[in-house]
Amino acid sequence: MFQKVLIANRGEIALRILRACKELGIETVAVHSTADADAMHVRLADQSVCIGPPASRDSYLNVHEIIAACEITGADAIHPGYGFLSENAKFAEILEAHDITFIGPSSHHISTMGDKIMAKQTAEKLGIPVVPGSGGAVTELDDAKSIASDIGYPVIIKAASGGGGRGMRVVNSASEMEFALQTTRSEAGAAFGDDAVYIEKYLGKPRHIEVQVMGDGKGNGVHLGERDCSLQRRHQKVFEEANSPAIDEEQRNRIGEICANAIADMGYSGAGTIEFLYENGEFYFIEMNTRLQVEHPVTEMITRIDLVNEQLKIASGESLSFKQSDVQFQGHAIECRINAENAKTFVPSPGQITYYHPPGGLGVRVDSGVFSGYKVPPYYDSLIGKLIVVGRTRSECLNRLRRSLDEFVVDGIETTIPLFQDLVRNEDVLAGNYDIHWLEKYLDKG
Ligand code: ADP
Repeated sequence: MFQKVLIANRGEIALRILRACKELGIETVAVHSTADADAMHVRLADQSVCIGPPASRDSYLNVHEIIAACEITGADAIHPGYGFLSENAKFAEILEAHDITFIGPSSHHISTMGDKIMAKQTAEKLGIPVVPGSGGAVTELDDAKSIASDIGYPVIIKAASGGGGRGMRVVNSASEMEFALQTTRSEAGAAFGDDAVYIEKYLGKPRHIEVQVMGDGKGNGVHLGERDCSLQRRHQKVFEEANSPAIDEEQRNRIGEICANAIADMGYSGAGTIEFLYENGEFYFIEMNTRLQVEHPVTEMITRIDLVNEQLKIASGESLSFKQSDVQFQGHAIECRINAENAKTFVPSPGQITYYHPPGGLGVRVDSGVFSGYKVPPYYDSLIGKLIVVGRTRSECLNRLRRSLDEFVVDGIETTIPLFQDLVRNEDVLAGNYDIHWLEKYLDKG
């Protein structure tokens, strides 16, 4: 096992990783920008290194400074968390060359899955069902039109290097294709430095259901069930639950087994998520994330498996510590992403938290790095914490979530807690009756 791990991230996820390290007796190194000097992950780590000014590109994305921090402190591995450098194959490659362990899959798997066209082709080869589409990159208007008429409108044009819900455009008819193809390509080129785009069928009312997987690179692959992340705003997840209210045990086992076998066949090492759209009883692969996800706690709450602990063990060379038959799902868990934003306009609300009191009690978990007096900096994404609640049944979980949200006090800034207080009283949410467009429509109605 590692002696010392450097955590190349901030906020709640840096703390989450720090906790797993401490429980394994691993020393921790926090890195931080000047804006995060007083952050909780810095206070709780054994050592900390300032790696630059507030802007992410000068600090949390500054590979040179992060490697220097690793060398100065003698850390033998880096956990990238999510976002920042977590899916940067070049970074993983540089660490491999420096003999520092990247806690995640190989740079080869990151780059294959980071290109959505290659990811889809790989998934298809591994027997994973995919959304019907172009199969490869599309550059010519005539090709785009003929593919779209084969699969049928509406279609969606997506950037091969897209992420974070950006770089996609729905096309309803042939007459819209020329403009859509040109704009998506030039936007993708500007945003991701890669103008490759592909086309796939636009599904009208799907749910977003993803499967948590883990492999040890030694031929073992397991799945830890699914998460339903259909409540989204601007293609970004807001509220996640496990299990999905839309699928049964037989479907869970079927799609889970396909994913676990694919992971074993690929020789994949570490945690990953295989994302699907689910419509009319069918799963359609959209992408794979080769890292820990924001919403991983809902899986932990119903499987009682610590995913970060397992990531650390696998990266240090151990085999998976459990078999598929050891994974038992118990109860129901829901996560709310609490953002420092106005709950109606979603305008960011950085500033000082004058008073903070998180909810507690049986089945309540709050992953957050904030505290009374903490100043939410304006430079990073607005997630300030996650409220995760588990119950024996979905209805017990929802009752517990409702009272937990009502108990949550964050004074001094605006948060999205009021949005969740409304959602957990909504009939469709209570019935689990929603698709990926539900939340946008709900918000439009005001
Ligand atoms: P990103 O990497 O930016 O998160 P994804 O490919 O995972 O992109 O898609 C994000 C979201 O966009 C999905 O959860 C879904 O809401 C929507 N989406 C993507 N592909 C399709 C599709 N073919 N049909 C309908 N919606 C889609």
